[in-house]
Amino acid sequence: MQKLFSIFGDPVSHSRSPLMHNTVFKNLNYPACYTRTHLLDGSKLKETFFSLGLSGANVTVPHKEAAFEACDEIRGFAKTVGVVNTLVNENGKLIGYNTDADGFIYSIEEFKNIKNILILGAGGTAKALAARFLQENFSVSIMNRSEGRLSYFKELGCECFHWSNYESSKYDLIVNTTSAGLKDEELPAPKELVEILLNNTRYVADAIYGKLTPFLKMAKSKNIIYKDGADMLLGQGILANELFVNAVLKKEDIKKHMLHSFQL
Ligand code: NDP
Repeated sequence: MQKLFSIFGDPVSHSRSPLMHNTVFKNLNYPACYTRTHLLDGSKLKETFFSLGLSGANVTVPHKEAAFEACDEIRGFAKTVGVVNTLVNENGKLIGYNTDADGFIYSIEEFKNIKNILILGAGGTAKALAARFLQENFSVSIMNRSEGRLSYFKELGCECFHWSNYESSKYDLIVNTTSAGLKDEELPAPKELVEILLNNTRYVADAIYGKLTPFLKMAKSKNIIYKDGADMLLGQGILANELFVNAVLKKEDIKKHMLHSFQL
């Protein structure tokens, strides 16, 4: 019998997940179909999941925290961050995982000798990355537009800055996890500040994919090695697909076909 999977989000029409997962299922003859579900109210996630008869799902902005609340059981790294992006139906129970952070670690494998990282933004993605970076023993700093969300990161042990109290320092990598540049042409911080940051880092990454954000454009103009969020998307997708098929397909095969979907 064909299994059903979906991605929940608002908005969700831009998501590449259906193409990524369907390419894997089709090419590896796995009987499954992956759709999109536009969900406005995160509190309806669980009932919608079961009413659609899903075997699994991904969750994107803004429902990742609601997904954590909706689960019957949380496994692995999602427990540490309270943010879920992958759901699996295990005998009628909703099991929650987080594959975003490991997906990002996978995406920066080519960046060498990383020790100090500055994260721009303090939302769900920043939380997951900061906690995962600390597990890797990286030194982690956070900079955010508003101060309110910084207390979580202070408690984690990160150095925290607001735009107005930033003290210049050197980094191996700066990651933009703000949504500045997603639907607009904004930088994640005032231009003069971004100038200072970029003059003091070896690598730059953006969680946004599918476009060269103003932040990446500036990094490019300074000849800094940079990457967008496509490999992060690929990394989290491979790990989610492995959970969906419960190890029936080989990781190398999933990777090969999911990678191919980026050229379609
Ligand atoms: P959240 O809504 O949880 O957090 C957004 C953050 O961006 C907040 O810190 C907010 O600051 C900041 N922000 C928003 N607009 C601006 C602006 N104009 N200037 C400066 N800061 C701004 O979002 P998520 O963490 O869930 O997602 C963040 C981004 O990461 C999105 O673009 C998303 O698409 C991308 N993403 C990509 C993935 C991938 O696989 N490539 C996976 C997951 C996310 P404040 O606190 O002041 O409001």
